[in-house]
Amino acid sequence: MTTKTEKVEASTKIRPRIGRWEVDDHNEVALLGTRCAACGEVAFPEHQICVNCGSESTEVVRIKGPATLRNYTIVHQLPPGYERPWVVGYGEFDGQLSVLAPIVAASRDELHEGLSLSLCVGVTKVDDDGEEMYSYQFTPTKA
Ligand SMILES: [Zn+2]
Repeated sequence: MTTKTEKVEASTKIRPRIGRWEVDDHNEVALLGTRCAACGEVAFPEHQICVNCGSESTEVVRIKGPATLRNYTIVHQLPPGYERPWVVGYGEFDGQLSVLAPIVAASRDELHEGLSLSLCVGVTKVDDDGEEMYSYQFTPTKA
């Protein structure tokens, strides 16, 4: 049984529920998803049970992209700690998996459906203690 104080302390440790990701020795960012051995469905974040066929035979896959920008929005009303405005959009990997992530671009004029996006890592939020929180993001692919 937890006390009220323990519950408050636990709640302050909750982080946004996002998928796992990693950066390799070549500074390439990969999202850690799963591929179903039975039907080939790729999911992100990872699922132990396939979201398509229900098989429990899934393996971790590294999703690197590039992705294709499908749509995006500009968010002006955000909780404290986020830089405004915030651009967030869906990148589609291999025509089958869409992932929502912040988009870092030099100019919003360059954003359009079909734009090639690469994964990168950047600060998404600064918490009340000034600690920067990092996550995967999209950025237009350099030619
Ligand atoms: Zn499946």
